[in-house]
Amino acid sequence: MPTPLDVLAFAAHPDDVELSAGGTMALLANQGYKTGIVDLTKGQLGSRGTPELRLQEANAASKILGVSERVNLGMEDGNITNDEENRLKIIQVTRTYRPHIVLVNAPIDRHPDHPKAANLVKDALFYAGLIKIETHDAEGNPQSPWRPDHILHYMQTTPFEPTLIVDVSDTWETRTTALKAFASQFFNTGYSAGEDEPETFISNPAFFEWIEARARTYGHMIGANFGEPFLYNQGPIAVSDLVSTLSLKKAFK
Ligand SMILES: [Zn+2]
Repeated sequence: MPTPLDVLAFAAHPDDVELSAGGTMALLANQGYKTGIVDLTKGQLGSRGTPELRLQEANAASKILGVSERVNLGMEDGNITNDEENRLKIIQVTRTYRPHIVLVNAPIDRHPDHPKAANLVKDALFYAGLIKIETHDAEGNPQSPWRPDHILHYMQTTPFEPTLIVDVSDTWETRTTALKAFASQFFNTGYSAGEDEPETFISNPAFFEWIEARARTYGHMIGANFGEPFLYNQGPIAVSDLVSTLSLKKAFK
């Protein structure tokens, strides 16, 4: 039986997590937490590279981020539907890894697949806790119900007012290295794009600069060099030690 994970990150496409929560994933691994990434699709509709190449790139990125498990659920890119088949895939993987915290795409974003993934995962996580929904592990054994305690949405293109910002100053470099493992997707001098592969929104060198500027902006809000913002929609977050929690919030530099 696989080791339970502390944090499991779901993504519509391979590279979504690296782009928006890579610093957080690397930080969690450094702190000794077990992490995993579940990509819903292989990114078949991506304008550059192939699904096989993106799979190799994803595995290379996982190693850099210290991710223990990476799974691809093989859903249809551009057509992520909230149906029973897809929910069962997510329920099965959730019951396998039994995470306490789940990261997923934002409920509103530029790419239509991102909110679809967010809603599908949110619904499936609720059903994963119901005993009468039966699933089986890879060996055919029945799985016990499991509902993660917390869902956090990471920020991609469309900004939102973050509930919390993770200080990723210590892992920013690692996260950038992981992102560059997706050589076909982002600007990379070592990748020669095919003739029919256009420059895209994310393959332009300015895109990296924008991503860094945003991480610096959110980092600045918490007095850090780099920050990754998250949205939490499950009400207030409990605090047991007010002084300790607020002491993390540094003054503006
Ligand atoms: Zn995406």
